[in-house]
Amino acid sequence: MFELKEECGVFGLYSQRAADLARLAYYGLFALQHRGQESCGISVNDHGVFTTHTGNGLVNDVFTADILESLGKGNISVGHVRYGTRGTIGLVNAQPVVVNHIKGRMAVAYNGRIVNACELREKFELAGSIFHSSGDAEAIAHVVTSARIRTSSIESAVGEAMDELKGAYSMILMSPAKLVACRDPYGIRPLCIGKTAEGIWVVSSESCGIDAVGGTFVRDVEPGEIVVFDSDGMRSIRTHCGSTKSALCVFEYIYFARPDSVIDGCAVQAARIKAGELLAETYPVEADVVVGVPDSGLDAAVGYSRKSGIAYGVGFIKNKYIGRTFIAPEQATREGKVRIKLNPVSVTVSGKRVVLIDDSIVRGTTSARIVRLLREAGAKEVHMRVTAPPFINACYYGTDISETDALIARDHKLEDIAGIIGADSLGYLKRNQVGIIAEGCKLKGFCTACFDGYYPTEKPERIFVNKYDKKINEGRS
Ligand code: SF4
Repeated sequence: MFELKEECGVFGLYSQRAADLARLAYYGLFALQHRGQESCGISVNDHGVFTTHTGNGLVNDVFTADILESLGKGNISVGHVRYGTRGTIGLVNAQPVVVNHIKGRMAVAYNGRIVNACELREKFELAGSIFHSSGDAEAIAHVVTSARIRTSSIESAVGEAMDELKGAYSMILMSPAKLVACRDPYGIRPLCIGKTAEGIWVVSSESCGIDAVGGTFVRDVEPGEIVVFDSDGMRSIRTHCGSTKSALCVFEYIYFARPDSVIDGCAVQAARIKAGELLAETYPVEADVVVGVPDSGLDAAVGYSRKSGIAYGVGFIKNKYIGRTFIAPEQATREGKVRIKLNPVSVTVSGKRVVLIDDSIVRGTTSARIVRLLREAGAKEVHMRVTAPPFINACYYGTDISETDALIARDHKLEDIAGIIGADSLGYLKRNQVGIIAEGCKLKGFCTACFDGYYPTEKPERIFVNKYDKKINEGRS
């Protein structure tokens, strides 16, 4: 299936005393699993000695009790979950990336995408550097470590690196003595700080990661901010803050983030409910039941139901146990895969006029299958409502929508799309409604480039593709 997918989640810990940080990082990554299921990794720092384990697959599969034990105790840790959108599927691109450099060791984990990664990589390769992977994290490591030669601290090197890195990045770095977190000046990907009752600092892509380790949310990392954790506590470097208008990815609220997370002051669940309410106001319809496509459509369906007065129903059961090791059916039996992953609840929809809420329509094939499932389960009418505007442009900031020719809304009118997916009516969130779904969000601007083409950064001139790599979508359906 061609779906909208997030690239990564990052998690970091700093403790004044040695503690079982591997286990805490495991819990944090477990909570961030929705942001990436391809590979994961944890690096633990015990007074400058880094012990790292990475593996392909889910956090629960990669980190057995023995492996967590082998990572030992430490006072700093960095973790990562990855959904590879660039480079290969495979261990070579797993993070954290750990490097040795002239002033010590460093581990890097990041979420986002560097739009000038190709140029940076070429610059280093022409100077004789060797790359082991095809991901951006290694390019970031080169930029930071080369800046580290000139600077007196890791945080100064990160500041210099931020001048060179263009694009979306929420990253966590670990030096022998410090944990450093930073967010690109647009704040495209989220990043927040928490603290446990034992005084351990936590940095996480989403607040659900802080909750998972029993921590208390402290605040979000601001766009452009560098936050340093060391023996003196936490301090902030704000030289890159306010240099540009913020551009948080609005899809974090619509689809990527977990509904129990709060991003930049707005609860994800509240944003989804609001989107559903707006759809009910904008596209009212006579119907008997509102159902959402799990997971992100569920809260929006609640919003649509509340605003319209139409009953809410559980229209689908999603099989939660399909992991990356699931053996996808051959082309001829792809229909079966949808049924295994998602099954309609006929008692909810049979003989009814159904409002169906989903977060996006990308290529249209998935939506068509879902509408067909409802009809096969006895739905009399299916009125589809989408909590995002039509997707018409590529995303260069860490999702796997990089080819515009696959986007159904680029070449088809709304009425045509309704016909193609088999819906009786179709309504997308309007572009001018996107900015109002995240009530209470402290950031003033959102990235909406995939809907309107206004990219907050320059677009990449080239996308790095290693011709010897196995292509990212090989083996995916
Ligand atoms: S282009 Fe779309 S998916 Fe990509 S960062 Fe911007 S809003 Fe998010």
